[in-house]
Amino acid sequence: MSEPVMGATEVIRPDKETFLAEENPFESMMERFDDAAKLLELDPGLYKVLRTPEKQIIVAVPILRDSGEVEVYTGYRVLYNTSRGPAKGGIRFDSAVTLEEVKALAAWMTWKCAVVNIPFGGAKGGVVCDPNEMTLAELERVTRRYTSGIIDTLGPDSDVPAPDVNTNERVMAWIMDTYSMHKRHTVTAVVTGKPVVMGGSLGRREATGRGCMLVTRQALARLGLAMTDARVAVQGFGNVGSVAADLMAKEGARILAVSDKTGAYFNAKGLDIPDLLAWTAERRHLRGYPKAETITNEELLTLDCDVLVPAALENVITKKNAVKVRAKVICEGANGPTTALADDILESQGVFVIPDILANAGGVTVSYFEWVQDRGGYFWDEETVNRRLESIMTRSFDEVADWSDRYKVNMRIAAYMVAIDRVATMHKLRGMYA
Ligand code: GLU
Repeated sequence: MSEPVMGATEVIRPDKETFLAEENPFESMMERFDDAAKLLELDPGLYKVLRTPEKQIIVAVPILRDSGEVEVYTGYRVLYNTSRGPAKGGIRFDSAVTLEEVKALAAWMTWKCAVVNIPFGGAKGGVVCDPNEMTLAELERVTRRYTSGIIDTLGPDSDVPAPDVNTNERVMAWIMDTYSMHKRHTVTAVVTGKPVVMGGSLGRREATGRGCMLVTRQALARLGLAMTDARVAVQGFGNVGSVAADLMAKEGARILAVSDKTGAYFNAKGLDIPDLLAWTAERRHLRGYPKAETITNEELLTLDCDVLVPAALENVITKKNAVKVRAKVICEGANGPTTALADDILESQGVFVIPDILANAGGVTVSYFEWVQDRGGYFWDEETVNRRLESIMTRSFDEVADWSDRYKVNMRIAAYMVAIDRVATMHKLRGMYA
């Protein structure tokens, strides 16, 4: 690491201000990667290797609609880097999925698994489709056909999917079954985030939100604040946002606002999260919730609060609204909610950002526990899962915070440094097979 910064890290990029692709997730990821690689004085050869996805698969997903018509969707699976272990990462079903996005998300998974130091590489998959327009039977056919399209990469030792946007434990059960039918025996460890009765882990559903709560508590402590006094705004009331809100409220925080696709809901006295959970369990959306005022999504993001949890999609905090953010801490429950340009603005305002690759790593950490339990055929109780999750999340936060202090960089760059250093070390030890 004593060598001077070399060619590979001197990438010529458009000036940040004129950079038009602020919202290109792969470029956004690469900007942070470059900053961290430069500080690490990463070897130029390794720099080239780590900037490049190992494998990118594009498959046609033809299915019969219930009407008898044929529809053909496009599916992707990107294995970004597998030097530390089997590729790991979710599958999303969404009409906005692109290969660029899947590549970025696969890279993020690589860094995320390395930040929490679990023995996985990174992958991501996606099918360009709108599951809200499909019947359950059509969704099953899409899932099974996509699974058979990518089946050569799948396997407990090679590539292990999990839920992501618009996929859930039911979808994971179909993937597990399709893979197992091809293998002629049941292989539970091929996916994580499965129903508990078929080899899923207790605590997996809540794991991402729980991880968010744990690292937020540490971030607040670092700033001399307590969760009991914290006022919180949560964007997104899905699996991540709703659990994070619930657990933070249980720790004594006041949840001022939450949102979903139907709008944002605010109560200055604090929302009753169990009541909201009961409301959404019945209706699947927040619309019409009576014990709150409605505000805009933009108002939620710029609310006067201590903690902001963006737990929906990418690119919600951009150079347009970053200057208006008033939270002291941002806990990135989603992947990629803050653009690289917004990062600079938030840093100049002194906002403490817990980056996605650390903040939402609780999900993949308990996926790791699920994979271990499936392979061992021995299942842990929920208390054990939660205790081990807490130990990994708190240790990882402390490690990133140490790097942040040592190199005088923000938590995002520090997290990338920890991750790239770990992946690079593995490449160096393994050497180049050529
Ligand atoms: N999709 C989740 C993520 O982005 C979980 C991935 C996993 O558990 O493999 O972290």
